[in-house]
Amino acid sequence: MIIVMSHQARPAQVEAVIERVREIGLRPEVSLGEDRTVIGVIGSNAYAYREAFSHLEGIQQILQITKPYKLASREFQPRDTVVSVAGVEIGGDEVVVMAGPCSVEGEEMLLETARFVASRGAKLLRGGAFKPRTSPYSFQGLGEDGLKMLATARTETGLRVVSEVVSAGDVELVAGYVDMLQIGTRNMQNYALLQEVGRSGKPVLLKRGMSATIEEWLLAAEYVLSQGNRDVVLCERGIRTFETATRFTLDLNSVPLVRELSHLPVMVDPSHGTGRWSLVRPLSLAAVAAGAQGLLLEVHPRPDQALSDGAQSLDFENFDLLMRQLRRLVEATAPEPV
Ligand code: PEP
Ligand code: MN
Repeated sequence: MIIVMSHQARPAQVEAVIERVREIGLRPEVSLGEDRTVIGVIGSNAYAYREAFSHLEGIQQILQITKPYKLASREFQPRDTVVSVAGVEIGGDEVVVMAGPCSVEGEEMLLETARFVASRGAKLLRGGAFKPRTSPYSFQGLGEDGLKMLATARTETGLRVVSEVVSAGDVELVAGYVDMLQIGTRNMQNYALLQEVGRSGKPVLLKRGMSATIEEWLLAAEYVLSQGNRDVVLCERGIRTFETATRFTLDLNSVPLVRELSHLPVMVDPSHGTGRWSLVRPLSLAAVAAGAQGLLLEVHPRPDQALSDGAQSLDFENFDLLMRQLRRLVEATAPEPV
């Protein structure tokens, strides 16, 4: 349920409502809008308690949130969330590019990639130090050494860094080195991990599970939000379908749909979504045209030598070409001046 305060409501009236929510054993989540305050009341069957507020002043309306996810819904928060990743805003006016290798393979290659992507306008460096590989015999990542390399690249280039965390027990360690925690597709429904990143104090990049519906994806976001962490960015990364010609099927329907259903920023990862470098540029442009607020791209100085996901990694030349085309696309699709 959400309690919409009237725009003349006084702070003491807002406080009284929050107090009442707690008294009846439910949890208040306050959203300060531009002209009014909205109080989300969290707890199962919260709407049944609406009579408990009938004598309080300053309330304009009490509404039932009809979606199973609450804090992630547009009903709870109509305005877009802008997530700040150590000062880089995602969900605002700019399309934010996060680029780098699938895995951190060594300091030299990471720095070489970081310098290049930064010079072409990327704002975040990506790179996995803990890799969730389908086979236990594949390269598993450099672990903490890889995180240290990311931190070095951050200091040297000013790029913010994002890296995946695969288990709840590693959240504190990874959060100590990176600016944003990535939850991979294979962990989207690892609820203990979602709750732990929800308590980490770091922004979270939440990939869509490869077999997850949009509703399940938003409920996964709800796990993070319900721990008090409002800095969640959603990332569409392709789903399993009957099609086998590409690694996954990049579901671009989800981009404008999720932006209707939720206030959270939405990004797209066309590298994993297609599995082929030659499709990454066209699908990146399509994603941004569909409303994606950022792109997550795998870039490698020598894709043919990559320890993971070389086939879907852009080389420097193709990353450069994409960034130039992206700039023109963003100009062409900017909202018309009023
Ligand atoms: C990755 O970003 O390298 C990754 C493993 O992604 P996903 O979880 O989408 O497969
Ligand atoms: Mn990868």
